[in-house]
Amino acid sequence: MDYDQLFEAQLDALKKEGNYRVFADLERQRGAFPVARNRHGAGERQVTIWCSNDYLCMGQHPDVIDAMVRTVESCGAGAGGTRNISGTSHHHHLLERELADLHGKEAALLFTSGYVSNWAALGTLGSRLPNAVILSDSLNHASMIEGIRHSRAEKVIWKHNDVADLEKKLAAIDPSRPKIVAFESVYSMDGDIAPIREIVEVSEKYGAMTYLDEVHAVGLYGPRGGGVAEQEGLMDRITLIEGTLGKAYGVVGGYIAGSFALCDFIRSFASGFIFTTALPPAVAAAATASIRHLKTSDAERQMQRLRVRQLRAALDREGIPHLPNPSHIIPVMIKDPVKCKMISDILMERFGIYVQPINYPTVPKGTERLRFTPSPLHTEADIERLVSALSSLWSQCALARRAA
Ligand code: PLP
Repeated sequence: MDYDQLFEAQLDALKKEGNYRVFADLERQRGAFPVARNRHGAGERQVTIWCSNDYLCMGQHPDVIDAMVRTVESCGAGAGGTRNISGTSHHHHLLERELADLHGKEAALLFTSGYVSNWAALGTLGSRLPNAVILSDSLNHASMIEGIRHSRAEKVIWKHNDVADLEKKLAAIDPSRPKIVAFESVYSMDGDIAPIREIVEVSEKYGAMTYLDEVHAVGLYGPRGGGVAEQEGLMDRITLIEGTLGKAYGVVGGYIAGSFALCDFIRSFASGFIFTTALPPAVAAAATASIRHLKTSDAERQMQRLRVRQLRAALDREGIPHLPNPSHIIPVMIKDPVKCKMISDILMERFGIYVQPINYPTVPKGTERLRFTPSPLHTEADIERLVSALSSLWSQCALARRAA
């Protein structure tokens, strides 16, 4: 059997639909974010990154880098084991305490990524709570979907952000069964925000626990960066808050926060927690420094919001259509995978602007887009350069404009 031929046949199909992914070779320049060095063929150029999830550029913050470097120097590179078998360091404890405090919860539990935390926590809740039902928003992230699938619990999908549909589905379930309502606060591709209060109220009414993914909100929303639930004063009513250390906090790792019993339960039963090497202590120390900084500093959030408003206004001025939403994510819809990649390639090659095309399976086919995430370190000149490049491409490719 020629296995490579089997692989290549599927890759060819992906290429024909325009959904084959090409990675840019980037080296971010510390001190010069959002600028990066891009190696291509035999050449090299400086590019401005416009699609980073290091939303606040904390990956180059001096406190974060100092903490990481100091901890590598004092503790070495890796954790040395799973959390259970010699891998738990003081830095993991400090970070878990910091996270519990961030969300006003009794406890928190670290994972190696946000993906793993969703997969492990939902997988464990769904499989261990007897006869559980998981009610999942239809646009939940792949990591939640995989966790639910892995749990083999009954899954009920409710219409995206539709509380009436959620209530109808909750009402149809035997009240004696454990129920988990799983949803996100900021949806990363459309940038819309869930009606958390209404979801919590209806979940409480039917005795369901709430599982909230705040991956695209932690660090960014709420007075201390606790997410949209903090901003809305709802953290104490959410059973489990899940987040990442890899986006606004600029490092890597994932976590859940909740009651002692809940975190101890996941710690004790989740294979995705038990059977993998712990995050390096230096990563934990860097994440702790980042969270601490964003608990007291609002400057990064304020500047990011200003840049988001400025980019939206400049796009409107040129009639470049973008999805309206209340978040920091600006999706410019192209709705064609080939055109989307072509525009992204030209932006990179001709203008030194890097924005990765977003295609299937990240978004449904026919909704391909460029997803812009302005940071506090983009300048007004960066915004003008971007919008003038987009405007010239809009003319060249005869793309529809919207009246300003
Ligand atoms: N949850 C959501 C909603 C996400 O968008 C992502 C990643 O983009 C994750 C979880 C996974 O987080 P991480 O990148 O830390 O694995």
